[in-house]
This record gives sequence, structure tokens and C-alpha cells, in this order.
Amino acid sequence: MFVEVGFSFVCVLMIALINYQKLNSGHVQQLRAIVGDDQVSTAVAERKLRAQDMSRHEERLGDVVVWPRDAAQVADVLRLANEERLPLTPWGAGSSLEGNPIPTYGGILLSTERMLDVVKVYADDFQVTVQPGLGYKDLNHKLASYGLFFAPDPGANATIGGMLANNAAGIRTVKYGACKDNVLQMEVALADGRLIRTGSRSIKQASGYDLLHLFIGSEGTLGVITEATLKLAPVPVNISAVTASFDSITAAIEAVVAVRGSGLDVAALEFLDEELSELLTRENGLKLGRSPSLLMELHAAHQATIDHDLALVREICLEMGARTFYATADTAQRRGLWHARHHLFETVLRCYPGYEWINMDVAVPISAYPELVAFSSQAMADQELFGVLLGHAGDGNLHVTLSFNNGTTYERAQIVNEQVIYKALALHGTATGEHGVGIGKARFMPDEHGPALGVMAAVKAALDPRGILNPGKIFP
Ligand SMILES: Cc1cc2nc3c(=O)[nH]c(=O)nc-3n(C[C@H](O)[C@H](O)[C@H](O)COP(=O)(O)OP(=O)(O)OC[C@H]3O[C@@H](n4cnc5c(N)ncnc54)[C@H](O)[C@@H]3O)c2cc1C
Repeated sequence: MFVEVGFSFVCVLMIALINYQKLNSGHVQQLRAIVGDDQVSTAVAERKLRAQDMSRHEERLGDVVVWPRDAAQVADVLRLANEERLPLTPWGAGSSLEGNPIPTYGGILLSTERMLDVVKVYADDFQVTVQPGLGYKDLNHKLASYGLFFAPDPGANATIGGMLANNAAGIRTVKYGACKDNVLQMEVALADGRLIRTGSRSIKQASGYDLLHLFIGSEGTLGVITEATLKLAPVPVNISAVTASFDSITAAIEAVVAVRGSGLDVAALEFLDEELSELLTRENGLKLGRSPSLLMELHAAHQATIDHDLALVREICLEMGARTFYATADTAQRRGLWHARHHLFETVLRCYPGYEWINMDVAVPISAYPELVAFSSQAMADQELFGVLLGHAGDGNLHVTLSFNNGTTYERAQIVNEQVIYKALALHGTATGEHGVGIGKARFMPDEHGPALGVMAAVKAALDPRGILNPGKIFP
């Protein structure tokens, strides 16, 4: 019964979606009046630049691109879109991997690319308030002089707004958490143009419903984030990077579980299969060889703590049969290692010409990680498909990167994609640990959430009754 009620909400939502107005010249005039002439464009080139994210989902042009500069302008654009029933899709940097910011129904593409201010640094509280279009890399450059940094690190050139909206994570999530763990307060423009503040600058918060986290991971379907106050961490004084390579994937993954199980507070714990290890050895000079590998980082206030942690990591890796183990405190070498890891996808694109790629993510409890990795490897072999495995192994997050070069291999890649997702769900995990639902994962939502999806649809209907915000995402 509850399931039926839940899905009828979804149906109501879908009916709402097909009733959009087509954007006309009058609307464009109104948008110009709100944000200024040079902040609005209907040029095909501008729309095309923001018609697709970094996924393989079909591109779709918005009808107009709007660049508000502040929260009041965002709110006024939303009010207009709501009154006129125009679909509106927020856009950060477009680095998503599941079609999250593609303007599926056309309409207004609201870009935060000109909302770039650091509003205030609260250095004594380890906090910063920023506008949503600021890139996290730019933010961290600006924070360096305070000895602070914003820890979530997806690698791609993402904006703070896009990261919060996708609940992005990354290589340092294992120690510092995902975006949801690093935000205290947000200002959000709702579909009807109301501006609300949710959360506070207090670390502890127990006041009322947790609306802050309702908007985190909502992918622009519930409101547009116009400002955020983020938690910062002190830049660690002592840092060591480690690489270890193993004879088999099983040994490498068992080492991941053992390192986590030892209680060590590693700051990064990344897994690469043998293909990728060989690639980084050849292209970036890492000493991994053609062996499944782990890349790690340790942070500590005292060198003695690092030395102690390193000794323990080494002991665990050797016990698991590591064939190589290197540790370095050299900044240039460490940066080189993470540069290679962060640019891995570009390296794959460059080194395997003629292939296209599906870059998918799932996550499971850490004890299930070995089974997920073994299953994914076998699923690719069964389909005779070339692909690579990597992951933020420390938090049970696996990326299966699947190649295709024609219709047949594309279909096989989709089969593996689906099999891995259902396996992750069967292992009590999730269809996405960090990339979000977007278009690509929407069809798995009923299986993952059951009746809870109906509750999500009810929340959507309450906050966005006309279904104008990023339609076509999250719900199947
Ligand atoms: C090579 C590569 C590696 C990646 N690695 C990782 C990784 O390790 N971890 C990870 O988490 N992700 C990763 N990603 C995915 C991507 O970088 C993140 O999801 C990132 O958070 C997207 O940010 P963006 O600014 O590009 O947002 P966009 O892609 O522009 O938008 C993301 C979503 O947020 C919405 N949105 C944007 N701004 C706002 C706003 N102000 N208010 C409300 N909604 C908004 C959009 O409508 C969309 O639904 C990777 C991507 C690439 C290409």
C-alpha cells in the first residue's frame, strides 16, 4: 500500500513535468531585467557548452543560460521560472558523471559560474562562507595562507555548489568525511523564490528538522544553494605518502580491510587494478609495476605518530604479501603521486584511443569490498569487456570504468554496469557512493529505496510543486 502511495506521488510529479511552458522572448527580457543584459545568453555556443556533463548521457541544450551574481538574483530567477512554469537546471562546473546537470527538459540553465566570492573566513572557528560557484581548488589556494583547507576532494574541477548538491566525496573522505560532513550552514533559494538559511555555525546542532542535509545530495532538485558555510581542517604538519603493490587483487583488498580494521586513521586509501598500476608506472613514473596496488596518505601533528603509523601499515602490507612498499615524506613526490591519481581518467582517455568509457561508482560496507571487487572483475570477464577497477577503497567505494567502441560493446558495458549495481545493493551498499543519481542511476532508485522513494517524491512535491527544478533527475 505504502509503495503504491509512494509511486503515485512519482506519477503526479511526472504529470506535472510535461506541462512546461516554452521559453519565449518575453521571458528572456524578464531574465535580463533581473540579472542584467550581459548575464543572459541564448547563443547556441553558450548553451552547447553546458548541454552535457562528463558522462555519456545524451546532451540537451537549455533554451537560455543565466549567470546570476547573488542570492537575490537567483531567487528572482526562480520566482519567474515557477510562475511561468519553466524548467530550471542549476549548473556548477558540469563535471558530474551521471548526467546530473544536463537540462533534460530545456528551459533555463542557471549557472553559478559568476558567484565566486569567499564571503568570510572564520579562521579561529576553522570555517569559511562562500558563494556556490567557487571551485574547491581555488578555495584551497585562498585558504593556504590561513593554514586551513576544505577536505572533500573529488579531483575534477568542481564547484562548492555542485559538490554539495551531489554530496561529493573523494580520496580523503576516509579521514575527513564527504561534503555532508563538512558543511554547517547554507542559504538556499527555493523553487518559489523564497530564500532560507538552514543550519548554523555551531558544530553541534539539534534544532528542528535537519533541512541542511535534505539539500545536500539533492542535485538541484529541491533548491539552489546560494551560499555555504564550510568546515575546514588544519593543513597537516606531517604527511607521508605510501604505495604498495600486491600479487593479486584479493591480497590488495584484504590489505585494505586489514588497514581499516587496525584502527589506523589513514587520510587516503586508494585501490588500482594491475592495468592502471602499469599505466601509472609507464606514464607517471610510479613504482607499481603490473600489480594491483594501494596508494595511501597519512597525516599527523607529530612525526613520531607518522613513523608509528607507517611501521604498522608496512607490517600489514607485508603480511598480506606486498611485493613492493614505498613511503615518502617528500612533498614533490607526494604531489606527483596524487596528480597521477587525479588525472588517471585523462591518462586512460589518452592511452586507449578509439574507446569511450562509462565511469560508474557504487559503494558497500568495507567487509563486502573484496566480494564486490571480485564480482566486478568476473562480470567484465564474462562479457569479454575491457575495463579497469579503481576505488576509494578505504570507504568501500568502487569505480568500474568500462570501455566500449561500438553498439555491441556498449550494450555489454551496460549489462556489467547493471550487474555491479545490483551486486552492491545485495551487499547492503548503494548504487552510488559519490557521483549521485542524475539520469543514469534513476532506474535503480525503487530497488534501493523501496517505499522511501515515495517519501522523497512527497518532499519534492512539497518544495517544488510545479516540478521546475532539475526535472528528469533522481526519480525514475
Ligand atoms: C575525472 C573525474 C573524476 C571525478 N572524481 C570524483 C570523485 O572522486 N568524487 C566525487 O564525488 N565526484 C567525482 N567526480 C564527479 C564530479 O566532479 C562531482 O560530482 C562534483 O561534485 C560535481 O561538481 P560540479 O561543480 O561540476 O557540479 P555540476 O556537475 O555542474 O552539477 C552537479 C549537480 O549539482 C547541481 N547544482 C550545481 N550547482 C548547484 C547549486 N548551487 N545549488 C543546487 N544545485 C546545484 C546540478 O544541477 C547537478 O545536479 C569526478 C568527475 C570527473 C570528471
